Amino acid sequence: MQGPGRVVLGFLPAIQIMQTSDFQTLRAPVETRGVGLHSGAMIRARLLPRDEIGIVVTRVDLPGAPDVAATLSCVTGTTHATTLQFGEARVSTTEHLLAALWTSGITHCRIELDGPEVPILDGSAADWCRLLQAVGTCAPNESQVNQGAPNESSHDGKAPGADALDAESLRARRTVWGLREPVWIAQGDAFVLGLPHPELRVSVAVEYAPVYVGRQSFDAVITRQFFEREIAPARTFTLLEWLEPLRAQGLIRGGSVDNAVVLGADGPSSPWRFADEVARHKTLDVLGDIALLFSADGGRLHAHLVATRAGHGAHRLWMEECLRRDALVRLDE
Ligand SMILES: [Zn+2]
Repeated sequence: MQGPGRVVLGFLPAIQIMQTSDFQTLRAPVETRGVGLHSGAMIRARLLPRDEIGIVVTRVDLPGAPDVAATLSCVTGTTHATTLQFGEARVSTTEHLLAALWTSGITHCRIELDGPEVPILDGSAADWCRLLQAVGTCAPNESQVNQGAPNESSHDGKAPGADALDAESLRARRTVWGLREPVWIAQGDAFVLGLPHPELRVSVAVEYAPVYVGRQSFDAVITRQFFEREIAPARTFTLLEWLEPLRAQGLIRGGSVDNAVVLGADGPSSPWRFADEVARHKTLDVLGDIALLFSADGGRLHAHLVATRAGHGAHRLWMEECLRRDALVRLDE
């Protein structure tokens, strides 16, 4: 497994340790249904509390309900969406849900899907945030799974409802990772730079033809509240001229003006939610991809990420460069 390892503070008294743990899971299972943007399939997504640390996706529609961990090492595709695969378990368009989970501080979660893609919903992360707010979060040992509540999981007992708590997850606090040095990559005209910084800050710049959106930029320090209010509602978008080539590739079979803003010469297919919605959505995508570096250990990141004209492929290259240079350092030691 690539990426940061776990934190263990085994010398602290147990009760004190449990009080200081800031790992979180869902208070109870929650679910929604929606179309997959690229597959066009109607897919049910269930988010479940999990005893073990990390974010795992389970394909409950496949024999044996195989899992794929939401980690960089499982990324197999970045064309128009991020795709994860491990063995038979393949899942696409993970970025909006992972952004919501990471910025919400959820470190223990199982995502059950009965199809190959995370539902696109309205093209933003707003509904994921609403679901998480509605169900609430708690320490991993306090979820309904561990309170004797009925476990509705169709998964065969690998995580929700498992007897043994992950003791490490109760002992530890979330690791705070930083960069020991600037890390940057270029891919065509895309550029991603990470700088040491005392908070998580993301700056994004995009440039499309002036008839569409021209230049937009967005810059923010990321907190849960800020993400929910200012970034999560920003929808995915496409240019009218991209539609036919995408369809020809078998993509966007579930695409419609209900789950994406289509930009044509006459303007957007629905009113903008923000004047800079395109740049805000790119910020959402950055967060949802970078989360792959930290979902295995529940870590936070304190760094300034600057992404210009970047997409999922550039985000992946940047993460790989971080690991190649061994640039991630723990800031909490
Ligand atoms: Zn997106």
